[in-house]
Amino acid sequence: MSVATESGTYTAPAIRQTGILIGDEWRPAVSGKTFSTINPATEEVICEVAEGDAEDVDLAVHAARSAFESGPWSKMDARDRGRLLLKLADLMEENLDELAALETLDNGKPISDARAADLPLAIDCLRYYAGWADKVHGDTIPVRGDYFCYTRREPVGVCGQIIPWNFPILMVAWKWGPALATGNTIVMKPAEQTPLTCLRLGELALEAGFPPGVINIVPGFGPTAGAALVNHRLVDKIAFTGSTETGQLIMREAAATMKRITLELGGKSPNIVFADADLEAAIAGAEFGLFFNQGQCCCAGSRLFVEDAIHEEFVERVVARARQRVLGNPFDGETTQGPQVDKTQFEKIMGYIESGQQEGAQCVVGGHRRGNRGFYVEPTVFTNVSDSMKIAQEEIFGPVMSILKFSDVEEVIKRGNETTFGLAAAVWTSDVKKAHRVAHSLRAGTVWVNCYDVFDAAAPFGGFKQSGLGRELGEAALANYTEHKTVTMNLG
Ligand code: ADP
Repeated sequence: MSVATESGTYTAPAIRQTGILIGDEWRPAVSGKTFSTINPATEEVICEVAEGDAEDVDLAVHAARSAFESGPWSKMDARDRGRLLLKLADLMEENLDELAALETLDNGKPISDARAADLPLAIDCLRYYAGWADKVHGDTIPVRGDYFCYTRREPVGVCGQIIPWNFPILMVAWKWGPALATGNTIVMKPAEQTPLTCLRLGELALEAGFPPGVINIVPGFGPTAGAALVNHRLVDKIAFTGSTETGQLIMREAAATMKRITLELGGKSPNIVFADADLEAAIAGAEFGLFFNQGQCCCAGSRLFVEDAIHEEFVERVVARARQRVLGNPFDGETTQGPQVDKTQFEKIMGYIESGQQEGAQCVVGGHRRGNRGFYVEPTVFTNVSDSMKIAQEEIFGPVMSILKFSDVEEVIKRGNETTFGLAAAVWTSDVKKAHRVAHSLRAGTVWVNCYDVFDAAAPFGGFKQSGLGRELGEAALANYTEHKTVTMNLG
């Protein structure tokens, strides 16, 4: 397939894998069913993918169970697990062009972002966790009496991992890295909108030498394949990234089998700009913090609080930047904004734009669909937004910025915290004391100061309140994938 762009004709990557990975075999679904994955830039079908269901999940879980209990993986030295992760990272780097193109084809994100952000971050994440593989250990404990007491950090077991469509390849790395470093086995369900890069990574994992059954992949839908994973009695843990509603459902369902769960859910993050901030940097940060990835980020700075003294100038300059964004074919190197991932998301965003207008916010730029092919939404900025409006309360997950005015530090801390979410926040100021005061007062898992969306594999990420449970990345994520075992030996 060729894709014409203004900078030439780009050849789309070959689709190498569309099956279900169980053990080391790629199979069709037991039911024989398939589903279409769509190119969001053209609305055309890219290919058909095997549609896994409860029966496929059951086979995958048994493969993962047996690899966990009796396969070579269960006896492998920790350092060798680390070497496999390094090998997978190397293979990703060798195939970076293909993987980035596949991600852009399936998700719609600009190829420049896929190449500069998604892929390097994913590779770095696997290398980071490779380094942890032989460094997770227990303690010796001075208990009373003539006993020798020590703890071991053992893998949790079979981990069901359910990921979303906004950063498909990066979510695979965030989930596989800590799980594999600590010796677990995996059944992953990629999002139905974007299964292709995950499947290709499955191939690369086998090529790297991960033993059969350590990584199993079941593409399919949430209420069928996803729910089967959540309810399976041989799955020990669910790691989920997605919407708060689905996270709540998973938490309820997982109770029946007392699965360990980690949830990385939605957000409505305050991005706070004080009048004493470096304005140019804050404006660039506001644009990036909201419009990056077509606004499809759980940590998007979607409540932009601007101090009244600079409000007018700020709005004018941020609007100018929004107008300069280049919407178009994501394979064009100049494009900075691609289409939304699918029709459902597109319609949801248009609904929020309508609601903002109805509730009296002022749409100062954008507000419409762009073109009539592909799920493109114009970069949109609302001013005169009040805290109670739907666009200031609910997660839009699109290129829609809401600007709110404030006049005082205590006021903005209070308003910033008036949300059921608590994933991220940012503060822009040149006053160090103010920066720390606000950073410490905001109830959010991450606070960026004079920057936005700065991620590192070593820095924990996750939510307060209804934004989730547990932390991904960093040393913190290792706790999600290990059980402490206490061994006490009688020396008397
Ligand atoms: P979104 O609305 O943004 O697509 P979801 O939370 O529905 O977010 O989806 C994130 C992931 O969760 C996807 O892989 C999806 O298939 C899966 N999912 C959706 N519903 C369920 C469910 N009931 N049980 C398990 N997984 C689900």
